Amino acid sequence: MTDKAFSPSVQGVAKKILRVAVPPPGPLFTLDYLPPEQTPCPQPGTRVMVRLAGRHRIGLVIGQTSKAYGGRLNRVEGILDEDGPAVPADLLELLLWTARYYHYPLVRVLLHALPKWIRHGRPMDEPQRYAWSVRRPLDSETPARAPDPLQALARAPAQKKLLECLSQGTVNEEDLSAFSPNWRTLIKGLSNKGLVERIALQRTPARPVPSPYKLNRDQDQAVKLILAETDRFVCHLIEGVTGSGKTEIYLRIAEAMLAEGRQTLILVPEIGLTSQLASNFKARFGAGCMVFHSAVSDGQRFRIWCMARKGTINIVIGTRSAVFLPLTRLGAIVVDEEHDLSYKQWEQLRYHARDVSVKRMQLLKRPVVLGSATPSLESMHQAAKRRYKRHHLPKRVGSASELKYEIVDLCQTRLKCGLSPRLIAVLHETVVERRGQALLFINRRGFATRLVCSQCGEITMCPACERPIVYHLSERLARCHHCGRTFSQTHSCKRCQGQIKPLGVGTERIEALLNDLFPGTKVARIDADSTRSKGALERQLDKAGRGEPMLLVGTQMLSKGYHLPHLTLIGIVNLDHRLFSADFRAVERVGQLIEQVSGRAGRGRYEGQVLLQTYHPDSPHINCLLQHGYHRFAKQIMLERKAGLLPPYSFLAMFNAQAKRLNKAMSFLDKVRATLHAAADAEGIAILGPASAMMEKRAGFFRAQLLLRGMRRSALHRCLNQGMERIRAMQTDADLSWSLDIDPMEIENLQEVK
Ligand code: ADP
Ligand code: ZN
Repeated sequence: MTDKAFSPSVQGVAKKILRVAVPPPGPLFTLDYLPPEQTPCPQPGTRVMVRLAGRHRIGLVIGQTSKAYGGRLNRVEGILDEDGPAVPADLLELLLWTARYYHYPLVRVLLHALPKWIRHGRPMDEPQRYAWSVRRPLDSETPARAPDPLQALARAPAQKKLLECLSQGTVNEEDLSAFSPNWRTLIKGLSNKGLVERIALQRTPARPVPSPYKLNRDQDQAVKLILAETDRFVCHLIEGVTGSGKTEIYLRIAEAMLAEGRQTLILVPEIGLTSQLASNFKARFGAGCMVFHSAVSDGQRFRIWCMARKGTINIVIGTRSAVFLPLTRLGAIVVDEEHDLSYKQWEQLRYHARDVSVKRMQLLKRPVVLGSATPSLESMHQAAKRRYKRHHLPKRVGSASELKYEIVDLCQTRLKCGLSPRLIAVLHETVVERRGQALLFINRRGFATRLVCSQCGEITMCPACERPIVYHLSERLARCHHCGRTFSQTHSCKRCQGQIKPLGVGTERIEALLNDLFPGTKVARIDADSTRSKGALERQLDKAGRGEPMLLVGTQMLSKGYHLPHLTLIGIVNLDHRLFSADFRAVERVGQLIEQVSGRAGRGRYEGQVLLQTYHPDSPHINCLLQHGYHRFAKQIMLERKAGLLPPYSFLAMFNAQAKRLNKAMSFLDKVRATLHAAADAEGIAILGPASAMMEKRAGFFRAQLLLRGMRRSALHRCLNQGMERIRAMQTDADLSWSLDIDPMEIENLQEVK
């Protein structure tokens, strides 16, 4: 049963039948029910109680139809949302689009997009929030009768402290628990003495604090052009180097939206970046500015959902799933670092939050703003075709200086744990002589990337993935980075009893080396291992923010938009393996990484310097990037993409299958290919494969892929539409699982499939 046979609109239906989606577990298709008797018919987006397989379940009305599939229909048994649908009409439309575009069952889209408490049927009344403040004596109260706080509290020091705290300003009840765990008792004491009063919080929009900056010309122009047309769909692409003041533009957009009484959604790629940006926004807009990401508790998620729907939130800063919040007065969406891969969900509903944002604003007829120092080629292509409006900010704001790049040729150089003498010398200059800060970027965590037998050369592999395991010094064990399995340390080779040596350089080894080389300087490692505990990343960044001499060693994580004002030197240890990766997007990513990591330097008063170590100093791509900047570099790769009929010049969809045996995965994809063959022919879609994935085995499963390529997006979707139902109905063995990835971001082996 497909969802496109009806529309979510209510009009013009003779005999009403409700179509209801019940989130899993249950059937993947939607179900038909008769509306409840007597009560008015529930609107699309309303949560209802239905009976399914003899049990009561909560479902979402997604539309009405006059023609039912199947025989006798049950009646909807209850309506959960009495005052308006839980899912507003425009969000429902977006969810339906998401299901269609990603060829993913709507009921599963709901599972992903709706918070647990919404799916479980909790009533949507937003709980009234309270605050406490010092009570002012009434005029009628004579001074003699008005209580004298100090006297009254002489023997209650804890109450006195709380009163002092409240005399600074009103405090919300949520924040009082931070003051003292038994604040309720203390407040009661104060309240009984008539010293404090409880106030119901009104969510009146905070009056924004004016910006401390006067916009520079580029910023001003961008803001003006964006705000000139806010009542229709326009997609803006802000291409601004790191430190060019994009955040200030986002703040001005939010400010303008607030003045119009509208909400703004700001998306960032990583949880770590929400708090940094939120503090910027909170300083400017105060309350009414909320953070939403996967680590937010179920209760808070639900509350934000309710407040977004009621319109009592003004600004949400969130990671990708925030794109599905029911912001009923949404005025604009900003997608910061729009090129970032974290916007793409890698499992289940494989959506791209940037693309969904663009669609959402297209449906709403409002602006969306994409910002990056290194836009994706997809977005640049749209801008080149004038479908997106490009705003260029080529210069850093204020005193921040330009970066100086240097390539360090590694050929015939003796390295010390991956570092060249030149890099070590410049590190010395930076942290010892100039007492500054430096960052070494390396994309491998752990101590040694391989464990190798010194006699026979055998590399220790993970049996489930057939990839080398990585040695971690801090945990004294080896780990497979693909399946997470751990292995206790072995000292001798299983085959020849030879001694096992750790080879290859990871963050831990560089950390150890730097500690040796620069004994007086603090070394901080920032990678997925060192930042696992809550707040660890913030603590490390805080330390760096204080500006004492420091060496940071980090992975990809550090390439994101963190502000490290004292950093002057960046050493990129090695990115060569990426330049030759089979993924056609690898070079684009190398360029983005170099540019983004480099952007961490020289953001303060001092000049930034970037050293790039490579065995391929002549790489035309790298040279173009360093000499002419990201835009020219991207244009150069674009030509290759065009010649190779690759995105953004074509559109891809990829079936992934995995099973205990490779031939099982392959034969499933063969069947998929056969199913789509005729439609693909008719629509001019090329089907490539099936072939085994570049990483053929992972966690004990063999993986294969089948790729579809179309020169038109619509043709690709028509082709899929014709086959998906049959593919979904195929009988498969229990150990086989498969997925369809629309606009896949990781295509390991397109070359091989060709
Ligand atoms: P981006 O997001 O483009 O990397 P930021 O927004 O972080 O850049 O801006 C870099 C720094 O410049 C920030 O500290 C910001 O507060 C400051 N800044 C932004 N706009 C202005 C301006 N018009 N005048 C002075 N300083 C500014
Ligand atoms: Zn493994």
